[in-house]
Amino acid sequence: MDAKMFYSHLYSLLDEVTPLKVDCGKLCSGACCQGDDAGMYLFPHEEVMYSGKEKWMEILESDLLLRGEPVKILVCKGKCDRKKRPLSCRIFPFFTGDDGKITIDRRANAMCPLAQSKMDIKDFNPLFVANVEKVFKMLSKIKITKEFIEINKEIIRDYGKMEEMFGK
Ligand code: SF4
Ligand code: SF4
Repeated sequence: MDAKMFYSHLYSLLDEVTPLKVDCGKLCSGACCQGDDAGMYLFPHEEVMYSGKEKWMEILESDLLLRGEPVKILVCKGKCDRKKRPLSCRIFPFFTGDDGKITIDRRANAMCPLAQSKMDIKDFNPLFVANVEKVFKMLSKIKITKEFIEINKEIIRDYGKMEEMFGK
């Protein structure tokens, strides 16, 4: 399966389903899409999903390195073609934990009321949780995407340590 087919399949698992059964954007006015330049890491080779002509975003190189190459970051202006939103937006506010189970991504604590509320995973939309799990299982089968996940887990651990040191 090529990268485009692979990511199209992952996108389809998280096209319509959202963290809650209701629109959580109403709780926070879509806090995760705000800011002049919201930037999300693209997973390895995910840039194949974009033509480069999209007016709502640009793809830049971040400071994060994977195999010595900068990880690409998609920077949007707070509105997107929802069908084309990247995987990082689709899985938000979750990531995978060291035990392979889905967990709240501590980076979401900065703006997401769902993350801040310390809700139990079982209180989220079960289909969303199940599909994020499926997505991570598929990503973990590929060496480079697994490496990218591990780098992000390290960033999340560091973020957690900083939260503990300086308070939230
Ligand atoms: S910040 Fe959290 S609650 Fe708000 S729209 Fe994003 S995922 Fe939903
Ligand atoms: S790409 Fe879309 S979903 Fe992601 S932050 Fe930008 S506006 Fe929000």
